[in-house]
Amino acid sequence: MVPQLCEACLKIDILGCSGGIGPGLQTTTFLVDDSLLVDAGSGLGTLSIEQMLAVRNVVITHAHIDHILGLPLMLATIYDQHMEPVDVYASEAVISALRQHIFNWTIWPDFSQLPAHRPILRLHSIEEDSEFQVANYRIRSLPAEHPSPAMGYLISDGNSSFAFTGDSGFHPPFWHKVNEFRPQLLIVDVSFTDDALELALDSGHMTAAQLSEAIALLRYCPQVRITHLKAGFEQAISDQCGRSGPVTVSPLRHGETLHLTKAGVMQSR
Ligand SMILES: [Zn+2]
Ligand SMILES: [Zn+2]
Repeated sequence: MVPQLCEACLKIDILGCSGGIGPGLQTTTFLVDDSLLVDAGSGLGTLSIEQMLAVRNVVITHAHIDHILGLPLMLATIYDQHMEPVDVYASEAVISALRQHIFNWTIWPDFSQLPAHRPILRLHSIEEDSEFQVANYRIRSLPAEHPSPAMGYLISDGNSSFAFTGDSGFHPPFWHKVNEFRPQLLIVDVSFTDDALELALDSGHMTAAQLSEAIALLRYCPQVRITHLKAGFEQAISDQCGRSGPVTVSPLRHGETLHLTKAGVMQSR
């Protein structure tokens, strides 16, 4: 991670951006300005205890394990040291899945009751297509299409903004919303190569050709970064996405840091 380049930057550390695991691969985890997590996959395991203690808020796109598995483990790591609770925001369906299937004392302790005198976990339900404030960020939930209830997010600090599809197949309502709010950066799930279209449709992810279709809906020119690439197919997917027309498309990289300003997106490692 690198320090903030400027006060007006929105900094995004890419802790995990793979559809799978393996050497150097982590699942979806983005850390905004050291304190706001967007999804909590295996990438959380790259943070030090000090960095975990700095996480104040978490927004979750959906309850699939690759997007949540780091959360219970992080809470268990820091719950006896934290000074402030960790606030988790997600749809009602996701919050109830977390309560029922993860924080149920069987799979994992219920950290909304631990430690008893000062529980570390607070769970908050948010509506579809709604806007809410988390610390300094204005966050809007965006439509997504996935076998499990899912939403994307548009996150703005007032100066810069980015949108994330979460896991989603090609879903025009997301792209219409993006045109409305015009974030500088789009992070888009492109999990499969074009020859795996059937798999993509069945599992609610996009192919490179579907990304081209989606980009054709754009009425402005954001930077597009693809994420959730199927492990082992990163190069093939990236090569196919490289042919997506006038908008710049490139894959996210593990360990990179993006700095968003009004002027655009800067990148460092
Ligand atoms: Zn998923
Ligand atoms: Zn996923």
